[in-house]
Amino acid sequence: MSGDGLPERPEASLHEGLHPDTLAVGFNYDPAEAYGAVKPPIVLSSTFAYPSAAAAKEVHRAYFDGPAPERDAPFIYARLDHPNLKLLQSRLAILDGAEDAAAFASGMAAISATMLAHLKPGDSVLHTTPLYGGTHGLLYGPLAGLGIKAVGIADALSRQSVSETAETARKHGPIGLIHIESPANPTAGIADIRMIADFAGELARREHERPVISVDNTFLGSLLQKPLEHGADLCITSLTKYAGGHSDLLGGCLTGSLEQVGPVRMLRTLLGTHMDPFTSWLLLRSLETFPLRNARSNANAGAIAAFLRDHPKVTGVTYLGFLEEGSPAKAVYDRQCAGPGSTFSFRIKGGERQAFAMLDRLKVFRMAVSLGGTESLICHSASTTHYSVPPDIRREVGVDDSSLRISVGIEHPDDLIADLAQALDAF
Ligand SMILES: *Cc1c(COP(=O)(O)O)cnc(C)c1O
Repeated sequence: MSGDGLPERPEASLHEGLHPDTLAVGFNYDPAEAYGAVKPPIVLSSTFAYPSAAAAKEVHRAYFDGPAPERDAPFIYARLDHPNLKLLQSRLAILDGAEDAAAFASGMAAISATMLAHLKPGDSVLHTTPLYGGTHGLLYGPLAGLGIKAVGIADALSRQSVSETAETARKHGPIGLIHIESPANPTAGIADIRMIADFAGELARREHERPVISVDNTFLGSLLQKPLEHGADLCITSLTKYAGGHSDLLGGCLTGSLEQVGPVRMLRTLLGTHMDPFTSWLLLRSLETFPLRNARSNANAGAIAAFLRDHPKVTGVTYLGFLEEGSPAKAVYDRQCAGPGSTFSFRIKGGERQAFAMLDRLKVFRMAVSLGGTESLICHSASTTHYSVPPDIRREVGVDDSSLRISVGIEHPDDLIADLAQALDAF
């Protein structure tokens, strides 16, 4: 019972029935906590005062011996947890439909802590292909050096392909983790998360080892795909992209069950890769407009993809909205994704010379890597994001000298289309 004699409301009822748009604006913050300020203040303090010596001991007991290490304990020191981080994490958990969330200094910080916490020397890892460059570098560099063997799945829509890859991997050691990136960048290849989760369940029954299933959800983001609903254990998102949405911060997030996020959060404290107060506050601000930005950039992307598909100097567009009816990828896409997103690739007639001529004529699009910002970006994949990828692998992932990747922002669509049209006249 609370002080006024009314029964305590269970926490779940605070947000039950409310939409993500509503929760992104006010969930879990009470102005009474901070002078009536309508918006949460930034708390920059690195350390937090104990009310008494006995309370100090209790706080440390809760942190080290409590059932949910750190998550519900009072604040001690900002590397462990701080008020802006806690508030942000509660909203990120809601967004992904997760029990728990941990935010990191970048997407790669979230990916590396997850892999280090859930893998040990002698394990193997299955992964979809192609992988984000940083994830590939981590698995085949430092983690390989620790005796962890990564094996790529050729076709992540085929149970047979997953099962064959698992056989190869198990020759090295038990499969500790299956890491899925779907849709893949830049191929827009789709993996069937549910099928892979079912496969892991069967492996558990047969071999008594159940790999953890992590999904890198960066390419579509939390509003368009909810991997945890399709059987993934962990969902990893680079908040640098759609959630941050303004190309002015780096951040990452891990969501899932308390049991599987907990050890990664403990490791985050040891690595010191938590998200700082100002970035956490910026993200709280970004999340408020996330649904609006997402709707606009997706509508813009649809219009631009259609314009490019019909342009005589464009030979192909890998836009998820154009997946072939009746194909296996389309069936999984329809079940797994709520929209095609706003980042895709296209090919022009010609090669590097024509691509560069076109890029140098653009006035509204900015030439840069990354994606998911309010501004529209474009880059020539072969000479930038895939510069260090050997040409044969580039071909495998569908990147050649005619490939351009665009991330569509929230500008007026007519201006974006006019800009592309005049630039395509360059050759
Ligand atoms: C950008 C990106 C990352 C890494 O995120 P950072 O915030 O840059 O560390 C991981 N995965 C994918 C698919 C990405 O696009």
